[in-house]
Amino acid sequence: MGRLEKILLPFLGLVLAFWFYSARENFKPEMLKGKRVIVTGASTGIGEQMAYHLARMGAHILITARTEAKLQKVVEQCLELGAASAQYISGTMEDMAFAKHVVKEAETLLGGLDMLILNHVGTSYFGYFNGDVEHVRKLLEINFLSYVAMTTSALPMLKESEGSIVVVSSMAGKVGFPFTVPYSATKFALDGFFSSLRQEFTIQNINVSITLCILGFIDTGSAVRAAGDVLLVRPAPRAECALEILKGAALRRRELYYRYGSTRLPLLLRDCAAELLDYLVRGRYRLDQPHRP
Ligand code: NDP
Repeated sequence: MGRLEKILLPFLGLVLAFWFYSARENFKPEMLKGKRVIVTGASTGIGEQMAYHLARMGAHILITARTEAKLQKVVEQCLELGAASAQYISGTMEDMAFAKHVVKEAETLLGGLDMLILNHVGTSYFGYFNGDVEHVRKLLEINFLSYVAMTTSALPMLKESEGSIVVVSSMAGKVGFPFTVPYSATKFALDGFFSSLRQEFTIQNINVSITLCILGFIDTGSAVRAAGDVLLVRPAPRAECALEILKGAALRRRELYYRYGSTRLPLLLRDCAAELLDYLVRGRYRLDQPHRP
């Protein structure tokens, strides 16, 4: 056997092992039937699609975002799709009091909580870092601190139900990507906070799972508008992405990668060939767009 096969075969074995370990195998929609779930950022995009999947599975759903008219429509659709119940609360996650209020409302409206899905994301720019420190602070509040505030408030209920926390993050929260510096900082912060918290849960025998979701480029309106003409990658479908997140959450996975091939596999390079990975990442961008700063 040549040297190449000696390296390639074990590597392929590893890849297959990862594949079999992925969430596809033994998920059943009944796992989420009757579960009490909060989904943030559910007025559109991946959050909206998660709400519809949960509705089809017969969950109790409490959704939140800022735009009341959109939330109302999503709730109506959820009820038509078979949700055990569907309700919304509108407000901004810039306000930590609102973040905690959503969790309190879950206690009142649902009588407890089985799953907290943290998915909302504040608006940022797509371009070179412009030095606006105030923007970074505001984005950290929306994308990170409100996640911490909601988790803290929800923990007593989640401990009671032995429930789950789902944190929607990004490849930009694992690897340095250009043009998303403030966003990337908030996503790295999520990894640090929730991975450390998971360790503490294990030490303290707290049976609350934390699933960190590492997503590639997804075809939501905001992402395609921001990066569609610059990224040389086809976006993956948001409905499928939403379902994979829920599967990973129901199976209490530590981390969820979607799409697997374009997220997990490049990350294998990170520790042994970081500069090569950086180079490959840069190669996925069209850098000649005239409107890029
Ligand atoms: P969208 O922009 O489509 O949706 C964002 C949601 O967050 C909306 O419901 C929006 O509603 C809500 N939101 C925005 N600002 C606030 C705020 N200040 N307070 C409360 N809610 C707010 O995002 P996606 O569906 O594309 O992304 C969902 C998650 O997936 C995010 O965490 C994102 O980082 C992650 N992700 C997405 C990728 C992609 O390519 N799409 C790639 C990698 C990760 P409203 O405006 O009504 O408040």
